[in-house]
Amino acid sequence: MIKKEVLEALNNQINAETYSAYMYLSMAAHFEHMGLSGFAHWMKVQYQEESAHAIKFFNYVTGRGGRVMLKAVDQVPVDFDGVVDIFEKTLAHENHVTSLINNLMDISIAVSDHASQSFFKWFVDEQVEEEANVEKILATLKLINGEGNGVFMMDRELGQRVFVDPNVVA
Ligand code: MG
Repeated sequence: MIKKEVLEALNNQINAETYSAYMYLSMAAHFEHMGLSGFAHWMKVQYQEESAHAIKFFNYVTGRGGRVMLKAVDQVPVDFDGVVDIFEKTLAHENHVTSLINNLMDISIAVSDHASQSFFKWFVDEQVEEEANVEKILATLKLINGEGNGVFMMDRELGQRVFVDPNVVA
């Protein structure tokens, strides 16, 4: 049986992942409004990924005999200043999520929950990848000042992103 403090932290993380998903969907809506369907597509894949993370936590909780208790999701931002602003907010958010994952790991270490440490390890690695991906896009956007033809070239590139469900791939 999973310990109370770990269960509580896991339920909070399901909320945080759901918030992330909803925030990226809001960014997708903003990109659609700007006429950047490739950027919007990239954000929709991000939405799918975060939803899949929530499900991964959900399945882990129930698999350990814990009870999932869903909470209200906070209002997400709806207004943004442009492509650079959105990816700066994305990077700041992923840095925040990394700190949440590290905190989950710290809690599981404190209570000697080895199974949870093993489970969280996947998310530790995932966050390294998330931050690297966003940093790369942000660096390119800054090179082109977030405007001009470069944005349309990036729109085409980001529109190619393919969602890989982490709950299906072993
Ligand atoms: Mg996530």
